[in-house]
Amino acid sequence: MVFIGLACITESNERPERITSPPPDSVGLWRQLRNGVSAQVRESCHRATSVLTASGLPLRITIHMGRSVVNNPTLRCTRCQQIPRWCVCEGLRTVDCPVAVDVMMHSREFFRPSSTGHLIQRVVAGARTHVYRHDVVPTRESVVRPGKDVWVLHPLGEPMPAGPVPENVQVLLLDGSWGEAADMKKAVEGWGRRVSLPMTGKSRYWLRTQQGEGQFSTVEALLFLLDALGLKKEHDALRVQFELHVYAGLRTRGHSALAADFLATSPLREAMPEVIARMHPQSPEEKAAFSALLRERTENARVHTGG
Ligand SMILES: [Zn+2]
Repeated sequence: MVFIGLACITESNERPERITSPPPDSVGLWRQLRNGVSAQVRESCHRATSVLTASGLPLRITIHMGRSVVNNPTLRCTRCQQIPRWCVCEGLRTVDCPVAVDVMMHSREFFRPSSTGHLIQRVVAGARTHVYRHDVVPTRESVVRPGKDVWVLHPLGEPMPAGPVPENVQVLLLDGSWGEAADMKKAVEGWGRRVSLPMTGKSRYWLRTQQGEGQFSTVEALLFLLDALGLKKEHDALRVQFELHVYAGLRTRGHSALAADFLATSPLREAMPEVIARMHPQSPEEKAAFSALLRERTENARVHTGG
């Protein structure tokens, strides 16, 4: 199935909330896309198709229609949200997590395929997403899970309580820009304990310009929490999924040098060497050039870290 319009479907096993009709002046284009592109996409997304089918999930390709709706429609795999060439469904793994995870996602974030809130929804078992709009705020009853100690992660919170039992904790992550998160923080005031974690180091979320030192993506905040709770297995598994998400995003954008830099210091090559090898360029010349670049960047990283 091909959906076109403003609907951005993040969960391939759920019905989209909204499928809008194409604008009148793009009906012809829409028919063209529907008839011509879907076959082409099925072909190029063959690997994703079989993965989705094996999981019992239907193949659905989203065509994101932004401001450049007619000139530059982007086809994306509905599950991993990457364009078909860089579909990484093959590497997606479910992460079982004893902490209950809920993401309150700003409606603007909802339409950004690179959102790590979407990534959490895709890979963390039992994670739930609640879309926040300034005029439609999720209710406390729909978000807070009975019997759980609710932690809203926020830099202005209190330190993490001592000796928590992960199974008793529900973490609520606010997913949006700094200003959007501030609005959501007001909306969830009093829903639970506001908790601040020591988050140090540099963000690995290379798909967006960070707003400042010490600011991290939503999934990185969750990684800090898992680490603080001593959930190493879950932390490492989620870290790999996050790295795959970023790496595929860099490749999608054609940032070869950045992708090589990223891969040089990523656990990805060890965690899923075959998936990564298949993401190398296909032409012999480009493949050789990328391999040389990767060797150089790996050596630079080794020297830099004293490894
Ligand atoms: Zn995919």
